Amino acid sequence: MDLSVRRGNDHDPSWFAGIDGLEASYDMVIVGAGISGCVFAERGSRELGLKSLIIDKRDHIGGNCYDFVNKRGFRVSQYGVHLFHTRHERVWEYVNRFSDWTPYEHRVKGKVDVGEGYKIVPIPPSRETVNALFHADVHTEEEMEAWLNARRSVNDDPKNGEESALTRAGEELYDAIFKHYTKKQWDKYPEELDASVLARIPVRTNDDDRYFSDPHQALPKDGYTRLFENMVMSDPNITIRLNVDFFERRDALPKCAKTIFTGPIDAYYASQGLPKLEYRSLRFREEYHEPDPSGEHGAFYQPCLQLNYPGPEVPFTRIVEYKHKPNQPVEARNSKGTVIFKEYSCDHGEPYYPVPNPANHALYEKYKAMAEREGKDVCFVGRLASYKYFNMDQAFLNALEMFDEVWGEGAGERGR
Ligand code: UDP
Repeated sequence: MDLSVRRGNDHDPSWFAGIDGLEASYDMVIVGAGISGCVFAERGSRELGLKSLIIDKRDHIGGNCYDFVNKRGFRVSQYGVHLFHTRHERVWEYVNRFSDWTPYEHRVKGKVDVGEGYKIVPIPPSRETVNALFHADVHTEEEMEAWLNARRSVNDDPKNGEESALTRAGEELYDAIFKHYTKKQWDKYPEELDASVLARIPVRTNDDDRYFSDPHQALPKDGYTRLFENMVMSDPNITIRLNVDFFERRDALPKCAKTIFTGPIDAYYASQGLPKLEYRSLRFREEYHEPDPSGEHGAFYQPCLQLNYPGPEVPFTRIVEYKHKPNQPVEARNSKGTVIFKEYSCDHGEPYYPVPNPANHALYEKYKAMAEREGKDVCFVGRLASYKYFNMDQAFLNALEMFDEVWGEGAGERGR
């Protein structure tokens, strides 16, 4: 076994912590072993024979996609549920090189109370949602269009999340589904966020109850961590060192032709005196339950993998029950118990989400201008470094495209 790396599914963080015994120089020092870092190392090695050192301050690879099988046998995600979906053929073809995929179409429900007690309804909102919540009695696309048209505000150019939701959904759905969930998630009301944030959730007139409409929707058969292992482990050109904080060790790192930085861009320039960028973080409350098998949901706690709580009456945004994922180990599928995670948003801790609004974009532009002055030696890639609310597939695509840009057009695709 190559002892310069650690298997992501093992749990011995002491393995290969630190930076002893490295080579004197690498083609790339990559900061962060998430999607962007792994794409750069993998493409660098397989396309161009480049040697990379990946460092990560955490004790695992995979970034926020990291999942593992817990003591009870459930595959869970340490940083919240991740659902892969894409319309980009380039990305779909790329991720299929590293894992088999189990088709999975995500269906989310919301537990909503509009004054008549809790009801469980589809999200994105649809005919079923408005019939259940507002006794709308709409059964065709035309009827749903008419119901929405009677409530929507006409606005061809919504300037913020509130206008975006009101023009698509109208006041009642806005209050029931979007307004308070958004406040809990971002600690901002929708009017304080870009229109694009709420536009992620469509309002449906048809029967489609899937959360995403991309043609490829699937889960890696053996989890995300295995996919990242298959990208970067057992490759003699790629060395991974965990528990290494770039900011503490940067002066002691080997020389390199390029630094690929995938952390928060404002952390990189922390000494430059600009205000910090705003991020949201998450914390999770884990609970184990043994549901009554004759109960409403059988051996499950709730009816679906993700149940949103859009109302202000509970402090969490959603509950995720991983047992519903089809890529669970057999032991988990057959278990009489189930594990759930209540998800709370907060403003401290590991950054998960950039906060898309005009003030943060303006501040980011100042950081970006500094990054551009670095020339070609340092490259900022990924959700945190480019301060963009990327989905997983967008992060893969962005990294593949940036790799081309940094190492020459077409470099990322020559191995096809
Ligand atoms: N959203 C909402 N109610 C919901 C689901 C989503 O108001 O039930 C809004 C909210 O502002 C959220 C955004 O839509 O942050 C994007 O939701 P998504 O599920 O894409 O968020 P993620 O899974 O990335 O946290």
